Amino acid sequence: MKPHKYVIVGGGMAAAAAVGGIREVDPHGSIAVICAEKHAPYDRPPLSKALWTGQKTVAALSRDVAGPGVELHLGKRVVALDAAKKTVTDDAGNVHGWEKLLLATGGAPRRLPFADEGTIYFRTLDDYLRLRELADGGASFAVIGGGFIGSEIAAALAMYGKRVTMVFPEEGIGARIYPRGLSAFLDAYFRERSVTVLPGQSVSGLRRDGARIALSTGTTEVSADAVVAGIGIVPEVGLAQSAGLAVDNGIVVDEYLRTGHPDILAAGDVASFYSPVLDRRLRLEHEDNANTMGGVAGRNMAGRTEPYHHLPFFYSDLFDLGYEAVGELDSRLDVVEDWKEPFRKGVVYYLREGRVRGVLLWNTWGQIEAATAMIASKAPRSRAQLVGAISD
Ligand SMILES: Cc1cc2nc3c(=O)[nH]c(=O)nc-3n(C[C@H](O)[C@H](O)[C@H](O)COP(=O)(O)OP(=O)(O)OC[C@H]3O[C@@H](n4cnc5c(N)ncnc54)[C@H](O)[C@@H]3O)c2cc1C
Repeated sequence: MKPHKYVIVGGGMAAAAAVGGIREVDPHGSIAVICAEKHAPYDRPPLSKALWTGQKTVAALSRDVAGPGVELHLGKRVVALDAAKKTVTDDAGNVHGWEKLLLATGGAPRRLPFADEGTIYFRTLDDYLRLRELADGGASFAVIGGGFIGSEIAAALAMYGKRVTMVFPEEGIGARIYPRGLSAFLDAYFRERSVTVLPGQSVSGLRRDGARIALSTGTTEVSADAVVAGIGIVPEVGLAQSAGLAVDNGIVVDEYLRTGHPDILAAGDVASFYSPVLDRRLRLEHEDNANTMGGVAGRNMAGRTEPYHHLPFFYSDLFDLGYEAVGELDSRLDVVEDWKEPFRKGVVYYLREGRVRGVLLWNTWGQIEAATAMIASKAPRSRAQLVGAISD
């Protein structure tokens, strides 16, 4: 068994931030990062954005975690966690001891419930490299999913000059989060950019058709060179469950990001934490959450007692449209739309019982702090008070 002061399971953005957090407090303690992917930690968001437009290269995604006392064990999946003996074991049989353990295992893509014929479930750098190779050879792509990943990858492929068909069950692109008018605008915007948008359709089967893949929805058949799916993730909670730690839509942590075991913490996409700003538990799948929470977890592993009260922001880019957002974005809430220019620039407020729970800053920049303060104030606000309240 190899002993370490700190072991981090997972090598994503939360893990990378945790290494930095540990080093802020403890310059020397030994750290082992064990990750199933063969790549050292890297930034995921550009996989569906800047890599396709040439604004970023793969090399630029790399997160610098190397340093004295930091070991990276790549291409190794942790398959067992013994909380009593304070060890983890990887799939090659290596046993690592720890004083403090961080579970930063993120999520695995949700899969289609039938034979998927080589579908790319878009999540990792390897998925990007595979899709890029296919895009360099093929002409037409089917994208399953109309949420964050589906819409971004469809836009990226279209900008890369490919014929794209999007299929998803909701009534419009991003319909679960955007108000109806904005979602309908996006459908039209994508269509103007030659994307075939098929809302309201669920894929019921895929079959090989020579070198191509035929996708059927019951009413339509789409033929493509390759199929990409972005239909959500399932948090990787297996190790936590096997160790008897509480799991409820993610690994349950307290405000210091500790699980029920005082020396095991969790952070990033896999962690369910209590947000005092929103008065509820959250499990978020966003970069700012992974980075900020990972940093707090690292510092707390190294001896600090820093609560995680941050309300993370997130963002997305679709062709030349972009936004930042914070809080609960759910189109079922009461929505107040304040457009400076309809669907091009404006702010959307999401309210529950008259209080702002989320803010979408559509092509409106530098206003995350103002939006977060508005949510945190929990003050009741009328439609009239909100119009013009935030702008850049
Ligand atoms: C294509 C794409 C675009 C995105 N764009 C945006 C965006 O625009 N804005 C935004 O806010 N967020 C975006 N996100 C979300 C953001 O990237 C995630 O929230 C973030 O990467 C989560 O980091 P994480 O470290 O918690 O988990 P992950 O990134 O999932 O990393 C977990 C790592 O742990 C490894 N692992 C899991 N189980 C084990 C095990 N048992 N043993 C060893 N290793 C294990 C996994 O292989 C993985 O490498 C995007 C995500 C994707 C995929």
